[in-house]
Amino acid sequence: MRKQEKERYKKKLLTKKAEIVETLNEVLNQSKEVEPDVVQDAGDKAETAYTKEFLLNLSTTERKQLSKIDEALGRIEECTYGTCQMCHKQINKKRLNAVPWALYCIHCQEKAEEESA
Ligand SMILES: [Zn+2]
Repeated sequence: MRKQEKERYKKKLLTKKAEIVETLNEVLNQSKEVEPDVVQDAGDKAETAYTKEFLLNLSTTERKQLSKIDEALGRIEECTYGTCQMCHKQINKKRLNAVPWALYCIHCQEKAEEESA
């Protein structure tokens, strides 16, 4: 992969990373607002628990993606970026444009999903 191309993907990854960090901060603020001591009845309590769980799940997803992005940035530095971690073939450019943190080529990704399903 050419340097210019790598820079382009790096930029994409960093932009996405900034977006996620922002979302996580929002989630953090929201979950702070959902404090149990301001809740009155049981119905409200249940809703608070639900909201907290929802926010927590969301942040778990975001966090996972964040670590994927960090790994991808690491691979850019190591010059292994854009190579499938399973079959070591080049990952399709279209795929990298859509999912710049992709670890696998589309075939290996499908295989991995089938196995985990
Ligand atoms: Zn592959």
